[in-house]
Amino acid sequence: MTAPGGADGSPGAGGAGSEGSAMAGKEVRTACPYCGVGCGVLARPDGAGGVEIRGDADHPANLGRLCSKGSALGETVDMDGRLLSPKIDGQDADWDAAIALTARKFRAAIDEHGPDSVAFYVSGQLLTEDYYVANKLMKGFIGSANIDTNSRLCMASSVAGMKRAFGADSVPGRYEDLEEAELVVLVGSNLAWAHPVLYQRLAAAKKARPAMKVVTIDPRRTASADIADLHLSIRPGADVALFSGLLSSIEERGAVDASYVGAHVNGFAEAMAAVRGISPANAAADCGLDPFDVEAFYKLWIGTEKVVTVWSQGVNQSSAGTDKVNSIINCHLATGRVGKPGMGPFSVTGQPNAMGGREVGGLANMLAAHLDIENAEHRAAVQGFWASPAIPEKQGLKAVDLFRACKAGKIKALWVMSTNPAVSLPEADFVRDAIASCDFVAVSDIIEHTDTTRLADVLLPATGWGEKSGTVTNSDRTISRQRPFLPAPGLARPDWKIICDVAEAMGYPGFDFADEAAVYREHAALSGIAGRLGRDFDISDHAGISRAEYDSMQPFKWPLAGARKGGRFFAEGGFFTPDRKGRMLPLELREPAQKLSAARPLRLNTGRTRDHWHTMTRTAKSARLSQHMGEPWLEIHPEDAAACGLKPADLAVVESEAGRAILRVLVTEKTRPGALFAPMHWTGEYAPAGRICALPASEVDPVSGQPELKGAAVSARRYRAAWHGFAAATAEFRPETGYWARALTKTGWRAELADETLP
Ligand code: SF4
Repeated sequence: MTAPGGADGSPGAGGAGSEGSAMAGKEVRTACPYCGVGCGVLARPDGAGGVEIRGDADHPANLGRLCSKGSALGETVDMDGRLLSPKIDGQDADWDAAIALTARKFRAAIDEHGPDSVAFYVSGQLLTEDYYVANKLMKGFIGSANIDTNSRLCMASSVAGMKRAFGADSVPGRYEDLEEAELVVLVGSNLAWAHPVLYQRLAAAKKARPAMKVVTIDPRRTASADIADLHLSIRPGADVALFSGLLSSIEERGAVDASYVGAHVNGFAEAMAAVRGISPANAAADCGLDPFDVEAFYKLWIGTEKVVTVWSQGVNQSSAGTDKVNSIINCHLATGRVGKPGMGPFSVTGQPNAMGGREVGGLANMLAAHLDIENAEHRAAVQGFWASPAIPEKQGLKAVDLFRACKAGKIKALWVMSTNPAVSLPEADFVRDAIASCDFVAVSDIIEHTDTTRLADVLLPATGWGEKSGTVTNSDRTISRQRPFLPAPGLARPDWKIICDVAEAMGYPGFDFADEAAVYREHAALSGIAGRLGRDFDISDHAGISRAEYDSMQPFKWPLAGARKGGRFFAEGGFFTPDRKGRMLPLELREPAQKLSAARPLRLNTGRTRDHWHTMTRTAKSARLSQHMGEPWLEIHPEDAAACGLKPADLAVVESEAGRAILRVLVTEKTRPGALFAPMHWTGEYAPAGRICALPASEVDPVSGQPELKGAAVSARRYRAAWHGFAAATAEFRPETGYWARALTKTGWRAELADETLP
């Protein structure tokens, strides 16, 4: 059991209720709702809806630091745009009516068309307790595995890669490893913008120990390369070639850890047979890199014992994402550099609770507690624990297929929770139409108007950050409490409560939880069964936790039971495969699914900017954050800009087979020729022509089902604007021109405008 916290750990003890003014002046210990670093935050509400924010010096993830987004959290908790009442067909309704209608529509679809005719699409923004009951309802009681999450877009390839190599979704290391390493390699990870506090920790470690080396591998020279000793501007999609060449050189230069491989690894011979003979020059040619740079990288990696290879969406969001993950892990397994201080492969997740969602089985191909759908013993254990009438025997629809099934009329009732798929899925225009065509759509959200809520039959107002209570898990397996410090506004309810209300209205037992602590206890108890079945995720020491202990819980790393309690994984083997050995895989380079052509000669990379989060529903409320980048943009190399007739600050039309976007041109040598970059955040609410996910095709990784959001084949040309304009207003406004992008300022709103025809 974790030790109770101090006074600052418990002021948010109760659920988000009407005690907001009672919390005024008290500092509440909570966690940031944005990225997977999972920083601890101290929040002091002023009693009038505002809050003072600072970093929690005692939180192991950030040790007091916050990034620009985290420190601006106080600017995002106002009531502007909040969904404060249930709505049916756009009209205010009471909870009883909204719950009854949702339950009735799901029940009718299941009765008429079977359990697989309904689906939930959930989110890494949900707390673990929310996720747990959503998964329990869909898998245990409705009897379908049609629950998938926006984490599918983020790290499904990492999950699949780690399951292939380790036998379980177990991140071996911890954040301190980045500080203790002698070499940190960032692959497809702009840590400086996407995980800023972890980057700050890395930069501070390098400053304190200049001998430490950093290598960045990315088609773009991002802000993360500012501290890099070497940057490899790799050809998009070629990561497997680079790490296959590294594996070949590891053997050639006698760096294989034969005793670790002999004792703990399977598949070595097959993996080596696939790469043997790949020279640094061969790899450099495949990767579009200078052979001297590749040789320098290999020499550094092989000659440095303490190496951590960090990756993120640049690896995952690919039709070969799982192979990329395994190509990295292969090198660490071959050298035995796994799970020891200062070394190991390290996946950094995008969302605050992507890991928590994985732990409760929020993906369509997993059961709860890292148990497997395909395993009859696991299914029986979960079903027995829940005393549920059903348990699916096969995987459900993963995100891309789920929305295809909506469009095909196979999903009759859809419930979207805390996410915005009409913007964030590939082929976003198709997905928007698919949701619109579904017979019944419920959306739980904190914001009234998003691209997705506009398509809902029923809107269910959820409590947001600062109002809700539960747990989240960050990228290094640290579980932290999110605590409330503001009252629930209007009629908003916690997500777990909304889900349980619908479950009970459908007539299912087992959802009468007294509070979120009761949900957590059940989740912890189920993990104990998984632990006894030999699985990695086990927090069963918390199965009997009291409400007071839950409220004062300090951050801790799982597993929280058994011999590995709080530690690293795999330094001494002990993988979660049947023979307890790690697996190396034979891999070959596969190119992005969409081929380049004369008509579409450029590869579009998408990603995050520093000061916005996902679809901007929260960060766009901060004038400070909106100042960094006021409109969506296109990074393009000067050679490509010249070929496309684009000049700096032009507007460009970028087109793929699936859709198009209009973006402000930023000509830069930081991206390589042939490779474009555009941010993922802008929506129909802030820049309708900048919805970049309208462009990528729905090509997915065959193992993980993760879509290739970074691999669209596109063209670019000048937007022939007949006029450009700039507008400023004290009140919120939505322009109606061919191109517009608006942003909040300290005194109101501003917008860039343009159109191809004169007004
Ligand atoms: Fe929040 Fe991530 Fe910034 Fe930490 S690094 S404050 S978790 S956005």
